[in-house]
Amino acid sequence: MPQEMRSPIESGCPDGFQYMHPTMRRNYGLWSHHDHPRPGVLVHYAHSGDEIWTVKCATQRILDVFTLRKLCQIGDDFADGYIHFTIRSNVEYVVDSEDKVQPLIDAIEEAGFIVGGTANSVATLSHTQGWLHCDIPGTDASGVVKSMMDELIDEFKECNMPNRVHMTTSCCQINCGGQGDIAINVQHTKPPRIDHTQVGNVCERPSVVARCPVAAIRPAMVDGKPSLEVDEKKCICCGACFPPCPPMQINDAEHSKLAIWVGGNHSNARGKPTFQRLVAAGVPNNPPRWPEATAIVKKILNTYKADAKDWERINDWIERIGWPKFFEKTGLPFTKYHIDNWRGSRNSLNASTHIRF
Ligand code: SF4
Ligand code: SF4
Repeated sequence: MPQEMRSPIESGCPDGFQYMHPTMRRNYGLWSHHDHPRPGVLVHYAHSGDEIWTVKCATQRILDVFTLRKLCQIGDDFADGYIHFTIRSNVEYVVDSEDKVQPLIDAIEEAGFIVGGTANSVATLSHTQGWLHCDIPGTDASGVVKSMMDELIDEFKECNMPNRVHMTTSCCQINCGGQGDIAINVQHTKPPRIDHTQVGNVCERPSVVARCPVAAIRPAMVDGKPSLEVDEKKCICCGACFPPCPPMQINDAEHSKLAIWVGGNHSNARGKPTFQRLVAAGVPNNPPRWPEATAIVKKILNTYKADAKDWERINDWIERIGWPKFFEKTGLPFTKYHIDNWRGSRNSLNASTHIRF
């Protein structure tokens, strides 16, 4: 008898249906319309006459077990036992009738969480894993997020913006995090400092040489030991060499700064994607509250709120008024750092689609 083939082991994303509220599952694909009765609350009406009420609240994203249990307990007690996390680290509770909404909101607020983040509000800032999971961070992105959201709490709770505002942070200069209406990204401003006593013990030198996008790293012998050297004229201070070789230290309390970019947006049914543009460079990376970066972000948001037409995203608004007016209205200085005059890209930038490690 032929041997039965074994069924494949599912190791990908689990089936989302099992986590859905039964009313949501029953009406899947059969919704009629939705409404936004108040900030933080959405209601969806199904053709069958069923309703789903969604209440959204913010978390600090990096959650301890105690807080997670507290959030789940609220779900068990007030939201039919269901809880969803959104990609911006918010929590959504779903109930099937209006009379369950207010007790749910009261329980959320009593536990210290904030309801909001829907429609034309400032959504929770997103940030990348940073110190918790990653080997490259140049700053504490979670700290930047916490400080800024503390100051923007009213913009999260109310819907006063012309359209939705997504903000992102990133804790290094090269990878995730930098795509949003406003992005706060790390900016290194000096080449790495090399600890030559460690390079030979810790780093695989060919991988480090291959990492550099502008071919600025060469193998070298220093004090009779194998090490590396950096051509500082070529180095663009990107920090890509630090993860495969921690002795190439680039994080620096004084020289690692923040930069603020605006206008990044994904494509949608009406428009093409737009790239972010640098609007403030060399902003102090100043923990624990980052007041300088927060002041710039608030200035941009307040100008956008006062000047944009209804439903214009930040990139639409700037497109309409033009960049000179953007700098004029926000009062941000336009400096030489805003001009992209780097001529090395054609010849030396690693622009191939092949990943080389
Ligand atoms: S932004 Fe950079 S440092 Fe932060 S998690 Fe992503 S890759 Fe790591
Ligand atoms: S910081 Fe970037 S450009 Fe400079 S040496 Fe390292 S990888 Fe190359």
